[in-house]
Amino acid sequence: MGNCLFELYIITYILIVSILFKLKRRIIMSKITGPISTMPNHHHEVPLNTFCDTHEDKLAIKRIQGETDSMGSELIDMCLECYNEYLAYRIKVKQEVSCCDWCKKESTNCTPTRDFEEGLYGRIYDVCLRCRQKQNENIDNHYD
Ligand SMILES: [Zn+2]
Ligand SMILES: [Zn+2]
Repeated sequence: MGNCLFELYIITYILIVSILFKLKRRIIMSKITGPISTMPNHHHEVPLNTFCDTHEDKLAIKRIQGETDSMGSELIDMCLECYNEYLAYRIKVKQEVSCCDWCKKESTNCTPTRDFEEGLYGRIYDVCLRCRQKQNENIDNHYD
């Protein structure tokens, strides 16, 4: 009886260790930057011998900036296959109608934009072309 309990204890221990190991690997795999001034979808240099985040056996050819906020951003390493998928996804997203964060109107030309008053490391908004042009005019007036 005592032996049986001991085995159960060992099995539970191995299970917990393997879960912790997997979690740790995930944390290492997703690369988080500090506050960053570049925009989502920015292409970063991929360090040599970096593997794809999805395919552990394929070398990454691109490192793309993912979700970004004022705290930092996630970097995603992609192999050729994943990069092609990403490009196809980007084209689809570009054609989709989304709501501008500033004027709340729907538009097909929304892109990630920072409010210049919040600075280079501020929040990123999804902003339509008209609002971006308006902000550019404001910046011009600001420095005249
Ligand atoms: Zn891949
Ligand atoms: Zn707008």
